[in-house]
Amino acid sequence: MTAEIVTTDMEAPDVWRDAGFLALNAGSSSLKFAVFPAQGETALMTGQVDRIGPEGTLKIKDGEGRPIEPAAGALTSHDTALSTVIATLKRELPDLEIAAVGHRVVHGGIHYTAPVVVDEAALETFATLSSFAPLHQPHNISGIRAAMEAFPGVVQVACFDTAFHRGQPLVNDTFALPHRYYEQGVRRYGFHGLSYEYITGEMTRIAPHLMAGRVVVAHLGNGASMCAIYRGRSVASSMGFSALDGLPMGTRCGQLDPGVMLYMLDQEKLNTAQIRQILYNESGLLGLSGGLSNDMRTLEEADTPESHRAIDYFVFRIQRELGAMAAVMGGIDALVFCGGIGENSRVVRRRVCERLGWMGIEIDHGRNAESATVISSEFARTTVMIVPTREDLVIARAARASVGVPAKDPA
Ligand code: ADP
Repeated sequence: MTAEIVTTDMEAPDVWRDAGFLALNAGSSSLKFAVFPAQGETALMTGQVDRIGPEGTLKIKDGEGRPIEPAAGALTSHDTALSTVIATLKRELPDLEIAAVGHRVVHGGIHYTAPVVVDEAALETFATLSSFAPLHQPHNISGIRAAMEAFPGVVQVACFDTAFHRGQPLVNDTFALPHRYYEQGVRRYGFHGLSYEYITGEMTRIAPHLMAGRVVVAHLGNGASMCAIYRGRSVASSMGFSALDGLPMGTRCGQLDPGVMLYMLDQEKLNTAQIRQILYNESGLLGLSGGLSNDMRTLEEADTPESHRAIDYFVFRIQRELGAMAAVMGGIDALVFCGGIGENSRVVRRRVCERLGWMGIEIDHGRNAESATVISSEFARTTVMIVPTREDLVIARAARASVGVPAKDPA
């Protein structure tokens, strides 16, 4: 397998002055990107292509968050979308030379535990994992191929969402199926690993005494999961084999009795495409709210019985998972919220922390309303924090490290 990448902590030499590092996150119909200089946490440019196809849209911002007019170009495929992004990049930052491109790759299987430089053999290995993540992996691979073509000879680095969770104990890694499934890779991989890696690094910097203990991170966005981190290592995660398990999400169901799928197959005579559509796109907050919305902000504003049902279930499952994770670690020292909902929804944070005094969790409502970094009350046994996550930065750091740029920003 390709060599893993190691970071060092020094000032970057002047030779990297015009070097840029592109972080790409290619989804099924979207392409998110951020361009970073050789050091520092602030992107020079960020943007997102949505609904890749005839209806595609591209929004780009500069380093100060001001909108940039995209260059003319098609957004009909991942290739054309990337070309249009690159044309804008070249127009806006003509002196910048992309020195490495980092990619989010959803599945690294059982072997990849750190980012790797991509070559043809690695791409073939990634393709063998497509059956485990059919909705994401093929798009991640096309994103890499498109970037290889757009930047010939430039180093491409793959950063895996599963890597952070490898090394979990067998009891969390396996399902109680015939053991051959485990051997063929049907395991609990856990996802959102780039986010958990970032939070672990940030917590090590700002609260090392907590990170040395028992931390639960709740990544609550459109996709949502939780991770139990014991002394800096993932020991349990709510997502399992696919990105469906665990917490309910915007449109995904979260934990489900497999008997429900048998019911859909046998009684409703649905086919796999129909079931996939229900589980991935029509469930979660959207399904629970009777089709009202998958968006937490909209649900909070709606204040209807349907929106309450969705939020109640979301909160309930987070609390259940939190109790389970505390049990796995023999207690909890810190709970960290991140992701669009975790970072912004004071309602969800307050509701999750209600009635958890027995776990030492008690929030300060003033700090929660301000979205302060520490939102637990002064005397609470368990620290509750908000740490905004930066998956793009984790990817950029790996890209920088792949060509030997020393990491100076806090990692
Ligand atoms: P993704 O998983 O697609 O990256 P995000 O992390 O951006 O998603 O999270 C999107 C979610 O965050 C949406 O449900 C959105 O409503 C929610 N959100 C963003 N801002 C707020 C807010 N101020 N209050 C409540 N929810 C919010």
